[in-house]
Amino acid sequence: MNILLVYAHPEPKSLNGSLKDFSVKHLEDAGHTVQVSDLYAMNWKASLDADDSTDRQARPPGMRFDPSLDSKRAFENGLQSKDIALEQDKLRWADAVILQFPLWWFSMPAILKGWVERVYAFGFAYGVGEHSDARWGDRYGEGTLAGKRAMLVVTTGGWESHYSARGINGPIDDILFPIQHGILYYPGFDVLPPFVIYRTGRTDEARFAKIRDALGQRLDDLWTTAPIPFRPQNAGAYHIPELTLRPDVAPDVAGFAAHTA
Ligand code: FAD
Repeated sequence: MNILLVYAHPEPKSLNGSLKDFSVKHLEDAGHTVQVSDLYAMNWKASLDADDSTDRQARPPGMRFDPSLDSKRAFENGLQSKDIALEQDKLRWADAVILQFPLWWFSMPAILKGWVERVYAFGFAYGVGEHSDARWGDRYGEGTLAGKRAMLVVTTGGWESHYSARGINGPIDDILFPIQHGILYYPGFDVLPPFVIYRTGRTDEARFAKIRDALGQRLDDLWTTAPIPFRPQNAGAYHIPELTLRPDVAPDVAGFAAHTA
């Protein structure tokens, strides 16, 4: 199988760096083909702007830069900057995608957010399929990346209890919801439960060995682990075009949890 590992840590000798190296070797030893997008090593440009289209100079005088419409025009006409097009090719190639990063301010590092913003072009990751009052596009379970699997590998400073149902940071499923549901499920991925390593400050050789073993098991199970049962948009659970859950679906549940069956 083909696996794309999108990795965001600035220091190769970090815990994340060691785990990334371990994952690549483990997957390759199992016969898979791995590509790594090491965003800091690539000096990835994180900000989405007018330079993302190669026709910037051709823009008629006075025409404003529109982040969505410029993305659409560049994607449809083969005018995207090369770094964006190459990452899209890697996504098309991959059977599974792993995003690996340290939790920074309750989210992904800015460089990885910038990868998502720029690579997820209009027509590629959003704006796909029919948009009408009867159908709201191919997304949330459908879309360009449907049929592929995705998983987060995340390290945190906080303890597991800090991220438990009543922990002060909020439940980890809620914190990761915008990434797992909004960024991965939206363009079609089947999203596997995340592999989270808590309290990383307390990592010595013995603990590292346990983490490595547990991660290796998750990588072995990449094709058999059941995805998070997010509710597909176009399978009847939602009113269209309001896109609210029908009253008979999880009637007593609100918020993020309502969107998981
Ligand atoms: P490292 O610092 O590289 O390593 C962690 C420990 O593992 C060290 O003790 C190191 O000695 C050991 N180690 C590393 N490699 C090995 C190895 N090969 N073998 C054995 N031991 C090893 N945390 C939160 O919980 N929530 C937040 O919102 C949050 N926001 C942050 C924002 C910023 C800007 C920063 C800098 C940190 C934040 N943190 C937060 C903490 C952050 O999540 C952790 O520092 C990070 O996850 C640790 O990963 P690392 O790869 O940088 O670990």
